[in-house]
Amino acid sequence: MDENARRLTRSEARDPVPWTTAGGPDLRYGDVTREQHRAWLTDPRLAERFRQLEPDAEPVYERMIRTFGLVWECPDDGMVNVVGYRCADCGSSREAALLAARCRESPQP
Ligand SMILES: [Zn+2]
Repeated sequence: MDENARRLTRSEARDPVPWTTAGGPDLRYGDVTREQHRAWLTDPRLAERFRQLEPDAEPVYERMIRTFGLVWECPDDGMVNVVGYRCADCGSSREAALLAARCRESPQP
């Protein structure tokens, strides 16, 4: 087992599911969208689909789920939430959290 594989195994053991739906549904998204994102996150063919999209990239799970836009990271607390769900830590919707972060970053005149 090489060092990369060992590191991945350790991080998977510590945090087997690196995303959450615990924030509850974000009503801006439909049930179909939510269900589709959840299905893709656990799809055994995810790596296969990723290779079709990026043949030269290493199919690392964390990278694949971001490439497909299946998760969003809350800018306030770093929680990784499934797209279609609110932040499990602060309860913000994706849109509200990203808008608030953008407002903080741009200086007021
Ligand atoms: Zn949050």
